[in-house]
Amino acid sequence: MPRPRQQLVGTTVGYWTIIAQDTDKQASTGIKRVLVAKCRCGTIRSVLEQNIISGQSKSCGCLQKQRAKEHQELVWKQRKQKG
Ligand SMILES: [Zn+2]
Repeated sequence: MPRPRQQLVGTTVGYWTIIAQDTDKQASTGIKRVLVAKCRCGTIRSVLEQNIISGQSKSCGCLQKQRAKEHQELVWKQRKQKG
């Protein structure tokens, strides 16, 4: 019996839903554990488990894009108000 570890498969972190463990990638990266995660936008990607746990990775990148877009819109709005 393997020692029970933190089970992340099936959980949601940020925009990610953890689908499975990526054992192929895991082997190629050595000791690092890799997970297969599906972003809210539908993108499926392999993500290092440590990045998910640490909160470094919360989406495929669309979350940052969305924030940047919102910021840009705010800037535009403020410019408009200034005339
Ligand atoms: Zn995404």
